[in-house]
Amino acid sequence: MAFVTRFAPSPTGQLHLGHAYSALLAFDMARAADGRFLLRIEDTDTARSHEVFETQIYDDLAWLGLTWETPVLRQSQNTAAYDAAIDTLAAKDLLYPCSCTRADIRRAASAPQEGAPLLGPDGLIYPGTCRHRPWSARTDNDAVRLDMGKALDLIPELPQYTETGVHPAIELTRAHFEDGIGDIVLARRDTSTAAYHLSVVVDDAAQGITHVIRGEDLATATPIHVLLQTLLGLPTPIYHHHKLIRDEAGKRLAKRDDARAIAAYRAEGATPRDIRQLVGL
Ligand code: GLU
Repeated sequence: MAFVTRFAPSPTGQLHLGHAYSALLAFDMARAADGRFLLRIEDTDTARSHEVFETQIYDDLAWLGLTWETPVLRQSQNTAAYDAAIDTLAAKDLLYPCSCTRADIRRAASAPQEGAPLLGPDGLIYPGTCRHRPWSARTDNDAVRLDMGKALDLIPELPQYTETGVHPAIELTRAHFEDGIGDIVLARRDTSTAAYHLSVVVDDAAQGITHVIRGEDLATATPIHVLLQTLLGLPTPIYHHHKLIRDEAGKRLAKRDDARAIAAYRAEGATPRDIRQLVGL
């Protein structure tokens, strides 16, 4: 079986030990399967993405001993593909424009008649305030949301997916999508650029990814990705969610945790072998 995987960092900070583990694991698994390892720069968040971080990503990964195919796909240069996916879903009447701010959502979700506000993979589950708005009313100030009820009506049988990592596959049921996920954002408000879920699904398919290897913090996003693949007629890869690298206190590493940046270890004279050992590879 073909094996194509990718490492898909966002250039919004320095790579840390957790990224090193993810990239090395994907690279090792591709090599063991005689497969391909690709790199993708997920820079759709233009406010937080910076070229210095992107340059540092290439530098750190090369230092770790990784090689990847070029040209590297940069999401900021692939927006036409995301727009086309939005058009496809809009033509199926599954989308609506949404002008709600975070504060609007917080207020609506905590209104007394709503009960306790529910959390999904993207934060508060959207209470549906703008769901009545027609697609034709979309303006530049609107985000784009998926009408989950309509999307589920369109799929006669919910697909399941294969998980080979540490997080068991989540059973995809109508209730899980309706109560645990809700109307997700597919394009952001201020920039109208594709949101993470859409761009990742479009690009995994365009790059022919057969195995998605990533941290278990993203496992709860996988049902969304499988649903979007189904709606867009794209193949579903095999998912492998791996353990997260944690600090001594058991907290998972964050981008601002500069002490564990690969660059900091390099500056202290660590070798790539040391990094492999630190992450348990
Ligand atoms: N860009 C995401 C991140 O930096 C990873 C996306 C993925 O692997 O699906 O966390």
